[in-house]
Amino acid sequence: MSTPVSESTKGAPEWSIKKAIETYFIDRWGGQYFSINNKGNVTVSPLQAKGGSIDMMDVVAEAHQRGLGFPLLVRFQDLLRHRVEQLNESFAASISENNYNGKYFGVFPIKVNQLREVVEEIIDAGTPYNYGIEVGSKPEMFAGLAMHKNPESLIVCNGYKDPAFIRIALLGRLLNKKVILIIEKLEELKLTLQVAKEMNVEPWIGIRVRLQAKGAGKWATSGGEHAKFGLTTPEILEACEMLKRRKLNHCFKLLHFHIGSQVPDILTVKRATREATRYYAKLHQLGYPLEYIDVGGGLGVDYDGSGSADDSSINYTLKEYCSDIVYNIREVCESEKVPHPNIVSESGRAIVAHHSVLLVNVFGSIEKAAPETAPDILEKDHKLVLDLREIKMGLPEKQNGKGSLEAYHDSLQIKEDVQAMFDLGMIDLKTKAKVENLFWEICREIYAKSRKDKYVPVEIAALETQLSDQLMCNFSIFQSLLDHWALGQMFPIMPVHKLDQQPDRQSTIVDITCDSDGKIKKFIGLNHSKETLALHDPAPNEAYYLGFFLMGAYQDIMGDLHNLFGRVNEIHVFLDPGEPSGYYVEEVIRGNTISEVLTMTQYNEVELARAMKIQFDAAIKEDRLKPSEGMRLLDEYEKGLKDYTYLNFGK
Ligand code: PLP
Repeated sequence: MSTPVSESTKGAPEWSIKKAIETYFIDRWGGQYFSINNKGNVTVSPLQAKGGSIDMMDVVAEAHQRGLGFPLLVRFQDLLRHRVEQLNESFAASISENNYNGKYFGVFPIKVNQLREVVEEIIDAGTPYNYGIEVGSKPEMFAGLAMHKNPESLIVCNGYKDPAFIRIALLGRLLNKKVILIIEKLEELKLTLQVAKEMNVEPWIGIRVRLQAKGAGKWATSGGEHAKFGLTTPEILEACEMLKRRKLNHCFKLLHFHIGSQVPDILTVKRATREATRYYAKLHQLGYPLEYIDVGGGLGVDYDGSGSADDSSINYTLKEYCSDIVYNIREVCESEKVPHPNIVSESGRAIVAHHSVLLVNVFGSIEKAAPETAPDILEKDHKLVLDLREIKMGLPEKQNGKGSLEAYHDSLQIKEDVQAMFDLGMIDLKTKAKVENLFWEICREIYAKSRKDKYVPVEIAALETQLSDQLMCNFSIFQSLLDHWALGQMFPIMPVHKLDQQPDRQSTIVDITCDSDGKIKKFIGLNHSKETLALHDPAPNEAYYLGFFLMGAYQDIMGDLHNLFGRVNEIHVFLDPGEPSGYYVEEVIRGNTISEVLTMTQYNEVELARAMKIQFDAAIKEDRLKPSEGMRLLDEYEKGLKDYTYLNFGK
């Protein structure tokens, strides 16, 4: 059986910047924000073609100058603004094209990225559009209430609520803010009305409806009949009765649904929108003059650039998403003869994903190649070693894939025989090492030869993965890429420099945690994902940086402290045409120190130093250390507590 060669295994074509862009599919996932310049460095254009561009290696150099270690998260603040503008303008255009009578009042769900600087930038960029915020917990409510300034924009409160949460939300109403409490279960309405009465304020109520329409993708369980949140039809009617009894019909302002994050297929959005609008219309006809339909989150990001309904992609554009929502709401309202409601969406990922890039340094590799000091093969070596050498010497005569395949099978059998003999104690370590070296040399040669062929046997094509190196990168998947570890979500990954040179190895990526799960072996491919990534051979003593892209949504906050690798260093960058590099650094946020992460797990810096001092004193007393040496080492320990939690190779 043969398989066509994959893109990465085709005979080496002329390398160029264009080829680099194609190799890493930048044009497909980059949303016109990322490219490569003539120096072979990745550039970021936070305003797409409308503004300047920033060379990632300038940012790397600046980080070094400022003594900021890697991994380093770079936030492009203008890009955040650009996303807010794009979303709002896209909804405005759809509203105008569809002669829609309502307005768009988007809200940013701060759970997607709660960092104050991110939320501030989004609120500021959204002010002309009356763009508000969504909160889903008490802490988010406390932050949101203080950050929110524009009385025309909404604060939507999702999530389960206790009396304190409701009180703080209603405090917003007393400040004349448009705070809408979304009822997630029936008892919450009772509680809300009771607290509102005590506070003598009229609440603005939204109800989350449990739609039949169910999303697709990794977060699909947020919707459908068995969802965690939302009211069923009988419960909605009971809620209506409760409001009617208190003569509070007018407080029912909004109908909410959320079918899950990262909805890959636009058909799901259309179906859910129509179903929810039907509820809106029927409620309107029952005498509840709702003003808003909230379509929740779900607007996805094309992480793998395939433009498909696969989990890490989306089969629609922003324009299509907005048009379909506006059009379908209008259609149902017209047929039901009810007014067009204002439209709310809670897009998070689509606003923030593109704005941050994680820069990671490579500090070594785990290779299958024989070490340079590998011993020569001698005539007195074991017969199986000599047999393997013969196979290797015969390779140049193997003209086609079939001949190579035979040679591969023979080598594999020898390797397996040697392993079996080793298990029985019949083979020494030197022989085993020689067999392994020869085996991988044979595989490498067979694989290299196959790159010129149009069709390659499946087993030989699979050698690409088996021969791949593992590049050791200075970061933790559990802190920085949790959705990849937990859900297999793909993120674009590529070198941010040397792209004027052809990559010379296929690699997987391993992180620095001591967990065997701490690796990446799923990358963006031409049709599907692939198991290796084309990377360069880092020259000795030369730094090599990889960029992890589209990292701005969820990853920062969901990351955990596995192995006590803490939050990473951050640098916030703004475009500035007046600066030689086209940008300035507005803010640096230092990542956690060792002492900080230890404090989070109940250690105390002073007590740790004291415990070490007792041990040094004892060593000095027992003459195992000189006093000056002991004190110097203690000083080193104490200073080390203030260091960044990640590795530092000084380059
Ligand atoms: N609104 C609600 C209620 C959510 O649960 C979520 C996330 O799952 C969002 C909005 C944000 O979704 P997204 O990031 O897909 O836009």
